[in-house]
Amino acid sequence: MHLSIWHEILALISQSIDSNRFETWFQPLSPIDNEDKNTLVLTAQNKFIVDFLDQHYKSTILSFSKKVLPSIKAVKFVVKENADNPLPKKNYVIMPDYNVINKNPHSVLNDQYTFDLFVVGVGNEFARSVSLAVAENPGKTKFNPLLIYGGVGLGKTHLLHAIGNYILSKKKKINVNFITSEEFYFSFIDAIKNSSTKLFTDCFKQSDILLVDDIQFLAGKERTQEEFFYIFNTLYQNRKQIVLTSDLPPNSLKGLHDRLVSRFQWGLCVDIQPPDLETRVAILKKKAERDNLNIPEDILYFIAENVTSNIRKLEGVIIRLLAFASITKTDITIDLVKNILSDSIKKEQSKISIDDIINTVSGYYKIPVDNLREKNRSKEVAHCRHVAMYISKIHTNNSLKTIGLHFGGRDHSTVIHAVKQIEKNKEKDKILFNDINYILSQLEK
Ligand code: ADP
Ligand code: MG
Repeated sequence: MHLSIWHEILALISQSIDSNRFETWFQPLSPIDNEDKNTLVLTAQNKFIVDFLDQHYKSTILSFSKKVLPSIKAVKFVVKENADNPLPKKNYVIMPDYNVINKNPHSVLNDQYTFDLFVVGVGNEFARSVSLAVAENPGKTKFNPLLIYGGVGLGKTHLLHAIGNYILSKKKKINVNFITSEEFYFSFIDAIKNSSTKLFTDCFKQSDILLVDDIQFLAGKERTQEEFFYIFNTLYQNRKQIVLTSDLPPNSLKGLHDRLVSRFQWGLCVDIQPPDLETRVAILKKKAERDNLNIPEDILYFIAENVTSNIRKLEGVIIRLLAFASITKTDITIDLVKNILSDSIKKEQSKISIDDIINTVSGYYKIPVDNLREKNRSKEVAHCRHVAMYISKIHTNNSLKTIGLHFGGRDHSTVIHAVKQIEKNKEKDKILFNDINYILSQLEK
């Protein structure tokens, strides 16, 4: 497969998945040539990653690949030859000789995620100014810990890196530790296996600044939370700065221990809201400038008016424009943009229908549409049906009765039951939570 096609697929994926996950699981993959042109073969670092991808992200990659190259019918992962990395892009790896390797924060922080490149608007100005205050005086403001929360793609990770980058640019000899909670969790498991949990904990206790991204990932992971609790306490007592991000406000962080959640609230919790039109235009301008892309003002407005939900999607449009413009060597015109945006514009204008939902849920869980509509009572089918009913209730304006009719003529109380069930489970079941978000992102395309 031509590398540029794979890059286009990656650009699409990056729009609907949060950046840590994208960087951990998708970015390191590379396509290899393969006799069967209908199968996309991707290489990954090791068996662990191959298995993980197989279980979690195969259908995601397949559906995005089909969008770019409809002839692709299957995706396969293989271990890269000569690869020896133990785990995906891990920054803190406790080795059997008990040394912490690759602790250089410069290699971990994204140098594009700075305060200078962060565009300020109503939705994020408070979060930005507090972050800057913390970066200027780590551990010495009242904002300790600082918790930044908000929806996907709104700039939480960007701010977290900006704090780290800022501090490192001012002071060389300071111990900045950045880690995502996903990495924290996997490294901790490794440490348990190697009987080196004390070294693991000590490594983090030496931080002057500890930046932890996406703490919601720790939900339900008791031992990891406990370990994190001790690290937190030590740092806090020594007046070291802690900054955390989360996609939910602290009170909604189900599956996290109360004592942790209450500590998160000792300092300051700030939220980031989606950007307004002016901010979206400003962000587009900045990104276009960075990529030396000349986009006329009216086109910037057109994009900003049509892509409203998150900043990663705005960036995705720029990346795709860049790819198109460089491949086709044409100017960026409003028609080109309309063409690139056509899918998303159509969806934002026309409401999602129950049929769309049923089709998407059926594709995602690989359960035939008919089974969802019929009175099939198997547990698996019932679960998927509940998910579809829930999404239909929350994301369309249809009445309970209409929704029931789409699912084999069930009455409204069945729909209510399904909605309540999913609402409740979604809070504590991370997989379900992610399933629903993924299905919604498919529907929004
Ligand atoms: P989150 O962590 O909240 O999901 P990210 O920090 O990963 O979101 O942001 C998604 C993308 O959008 C990143 O590439 C980031 O640089 C960009 N971005 C977010 N907010 C801003 C902003 N205010 N100005 C410029 N770029 C932004
Ligand atoms: Mg993030």
